[in-house]
Order: sequence, then C-alpha cells, then structure tokens
Amino acid sequence: MDGERLGIGTLAVWAGEDEILPHGATQVPVVHSVSFGYADVDEWAEVALGHRQGHIYSRNSNPTVDVLEEKVRVLEGADACTSFSTGMAAITASVLALTSSGSRVVSITDTYGGTSKLFLEILPRFGIEVVLCETADHHAIEREIDRGADLVYLESPTNPTLKILDIARLSASAHSHGAKVIVDNTFATPINQNPLSLGADLVIHSATKYLSGHGDALGGVVCGSRALVDEIFRFREITGASLHPESAYLIIRGMKTLQLRVARQNASAMKIARFLEDHEEVEQVFYPGLSTHPNHNIAAIQMRGFGGMVTFSVVGGFERVRTLLPRLRLAHRAANLGSVETLVGPPRTTSHVELSADQRRSLGISEGLIRYSVGIEDPEDLIADLQGALRDSGVRDRGVSLSDGSVAPNAGER
Ligand SMILES: *Cc1c(COP(=O)(O)O)cnc(C)c1O
Repeated sequence: MDGERLGIGTLAVWAGEDEILPHGATQVPVVHSVSFGYADVDEWAEVALGHRQGHIYSRNSNPTVDVLEEKVRVLEGADACTSFSTGMAAITASVLALTSSGSRVVSITDTYGGTSKLFLEILPRFGIEVVLCETADHHAIEREIDRGADLVYLESPTNPTLKILDIARLSASAHSHGAKVIVDNTFATPINQNPLSLGADLVIHSATKYLSGHGDALGGVVCGSRALVDEIFRFREITGASLHPESAYLIIRGMKTLQLRVARQNASAMKIARFLEDHEEVEQVFYPGLSTHPNHNIAAIQMRGFGGMVTFSVVGGFERVRTLLPRLRLAHRAANLGSVETLVGPPRTTSHVELSADQRRSLGISEGLIRYSVGIEDPEDLIADLQGALRDSGVRDRGVSLSDGSVAPNAGER
C-alpha cells in the first residue's frame, strides 16, 4: 500500500495490515512467539538464508513488528524501515552501523540529550571523531562538512528551543562530500515533514513520542534505502535492541490517529504560541510557526505543519518555573512529549538532565525555560490553564516570597 493515491491519514490507518489479519480479525494480532517453526527443513533453511519470506526468531523479525515498520515506511515515503526497542537504540545502531574507527561525524549542539551524550562520551572512545556545530549556523555546519565528513546527523525542529535546519541545503552539502545524512524527525512527525523527500538518506523517530502518542510504549524506527536499512538491521539483529511485539501493537494503535492528533496539536500549538508571545510575564517564545522565529521561512518551506511543541521562558527564572508548574492543572509534569495529554517540564530536568549546567547554558537553555508539549485537549482550556498559572505564580506585584518553591495560599482557586 504505497502513497500514490491515498492520503496520509488513510495510510496511517490501513498500511501494513493486509497480510496479518487472521480469522477475519479487524485488528493486528500481537504475536508473542519467540520462534517460528518449519516442518520442512529445506523451507526453514530458505527462510533463514533470506531467500524466502518468513520469520525465524523474534530478535530478528516478528509479524506484529513488521506491521509497524510497514506503516512508518509508507508514511515516510521510504524503501525500507526497521525498528528498535527505543528511539535511542535506533539512533545508536544507525550511527554505529554507518561509522568505524576514523570516521568523522558532523552534527549540531542541540541534538536530543541522549544523542548528545552518545556523540560526546561514547563515540570518541571508539576513535570516531564528532564535531558539534552551533545549531542554526548553516555556514558553520557546511564549513565542517567541507573539512570532511562520513555522516551528517541532524534534527529539526530541535529540542528544546525548536531551531530549524534547512534539510535540503545541508543534505546537498553532505552529498557533495560523499557523507550520509540522518535526520531525527521525532518532533516533526511524518505528518509535518518527510526528510527523505528533502534529500536525507535516513530518517529516525523515537516512536515513544508522537507515533505512539499515548505515553504507554517505548520504540524507535529508522527508514531509508533498502541497502542502508539492511546494514542497520544486521547491526540490530546482533546487538539485539529489538522492539517488543506488545509495544509494536500499542504504537500501531496510536498511529491510527496520528494525523488527527498532529493536526490538532499543530493548530493548538500555534494558538498557544501566539497567546504566550503577547503575555507580559513571558520573555521569549520559541515556535517555528511564529513569523518572528529566525528560521520561520525555512520551516514554512520544508514542513506541512509546525508541530505541537512550544518552548518559552518566563520572567523570574527557575524560581518562577518552580511556582508555575505546580499550578498547571491540565498538564503532566513529566519527561515525555508528543502524547494526547499535555506534558510540561523544564529542559534542565527532562531532555537535558544528562548535561552539565555549563553545557545547558551554552545551548541557550536558560533557567526560566519551559518546554510545553501540547496535547489534544481543547486549546481554550490549555490557554486558560496557562493564563491562570502565569498569573498565580507572579511574585512581583503581590510581594509574596515563593523562593522556597512553596505554593502560595489559595493557589489554584482562581
Ligand atoms: C525522546 C527522544 C529520543 C529518544 O527516544 P527514546 O524512545 O526515549 O529512546 C530521541 N530523539 C528525540 C528528538 C526525542 O525526543
């Protein structure tokens, strides 16, 4: 089921399911079996050697997991897709499968916290050189690519300040030097952006986030050409970070509503970003859909929607964050994003908790920064919730000292 005639919402519902439904079932079965038996030894050998379709052992492949891979493959317009137990497993396997001692990786400072750790602490131990460029500085990235690169690793929009990279421009630069390009598309989702169509070689998702959308399953995927995905698949077969079929099922179920959820989250995030931009207690709003965003023009060209993540900084720094977050009634204060419920957190205790205070400062992650993952609630309710929390956490005009982080009396009553 490829995307020629059917819309992306239709494909998210139906793709990948035609071969697996037994007994007239309308939902994908969860195949828990670790291994798959063959009465005919020759047939078994054929499958084991990859000369014939089939499953042998669920570390390598599994029928339920296949359905998820096919759905994401179709939505990303890729030739092939493989999956992992987590997004970090997908990132680690993809990077290690495509590099060796002596390789040079060019990336940006603002990658996801775990990815940044991989680049700064793990890869150098294996003789892989990693250069991290100032995130939105396209010239700096191109200069480093010119010095030689085997792999260019990008993310757009970035976490947490939602910077935008020109994927087509950087892919062209990478290819002129023979480097492969990986894009982490987690924040955008395949509904809003397809990096392969912009020239990237591989696209990665933490399926834990928007693809699943319900905060109840971990997973990761990578899509691209058959040859590259096979190389990464062979690495995963041996290193073993395979996706559990139960998690694959939950992500499949989540993906049926991916387009609806993301459309709603795009629209709500835009409203919330505009509300925050006009609020006097908000210092800065980071959202690629705002015309004031430095790379709004690039986002408008390469994205179909601007996503459901809004980051903002509040007057009063971390003290204010401590008093504001407990006053939000319609948000989980938790380290996740892309779920149906709104999720909120300070990047310094969520995505970038692994980094030192100095590293965070150099990434522009100020102490008053709040990352807000817009859920599918009514946007008017979310705005009212933010409005109330901003008002009730204000320390200036009421002269109430909240420096110990305690909640002021009568908080939440208004
Ligand atoms: C969460 C996240 C990851 C890591 O995914 P896990 O499933 O938690 O391992 C990678 N990249 C981005 C952009 C993320 O938000």
